[in-house]
Amino acid sequence: MEIKINGTKIILKVGDITEEDTQAIVNAANSTLMGGGGVDGAIHAKGGPSILEECKKIREEKYPDGLPTGEAVITTGGNLKADYVIHTVGPICSRKFTEREEKLLYNAYYNSLKLAKEKGIKSISFPSISTGAYRCPVDKAARTALKAVIDFIKKEDCIQQIRFVLFTQDVYEKYKEALNGI
Ligand code: ADP
Repeated sequence: MEIKINGTKIILKVGDITEEDTQAIVNAANSTLMGGGGVDGAIHAKGGPSILEECKKIREEKYPDGLPTGEAVITTGGNLKADYVIHTVGPICSRKFTEREEKLLYNAYYNSLKLAKEKGIKSISFPSISTGAYRCPVDKAARTALKAVIDFIKKEDCIQQIRFVLFTQDVYEKYKEALNGI
C-alpha cells in the first residue's frame, strides 16, 4: 500500500529490511549499540563488522553511557545495499502503552528522520520499532509510527520516500489499518 503526502511517498510492504535499497535503513537497536537479536542482529550480520566498529566509536566519543531511548545516530551501511544505517532505540513497553512510551517511540521515528534530513537522505526504510523483543502493542505502535512520519513530512519536504518494511503479514495488516484510520 502507498500514499503520497506533501510530495513524500509512504510505502507499507512485507519484507526483510536488510534487503532494502533505500539510501538509509533504520535499525531498532538497543542503547548499547553493540548489536542484539531481531532486526538488529540481522542488520549487523548482513552489514558486516564495519557497522559495529562505527557504533563502538560513537559510544566512545559521544554516548559512553549508551544511546538514550528515542535518540538516533548514523553509521554507514557496510555490505548492505543501503548507504547508511540509522540506529535508534525504542522504548521497552509495559503491558499498557503509556503516554511516556508513546512519546519515546514517536521520538525514535522523528529523530531518525531529522538525522536523515541532516545527511541529505532522500529515501529511508523503517522496521516496526519496539514491537518485537520490546513488546509494544503493534496496533498502537503503528499509529504512533505513522503519526511521527506524517508530522515530519508535513513540516519538511526533503525526503522523497519512506518505507515501512514489515516482517510478517500480520504486522503489515496492522500498519495498513492504522494508515487507513489516519
Ligand atoms: P525491538 O527490540 O525494537 O522490539 P525487534 O527486532 O525484536 O526490535 O522487533 C521489531 C520488529 O522487527 C518485529 O516486528 C520483528 O518481527 C521485525 N523484524 C525482525 N527481523 C526483521 C528484518 N530482517 N526485517 C524487518 N523486520 C524485522
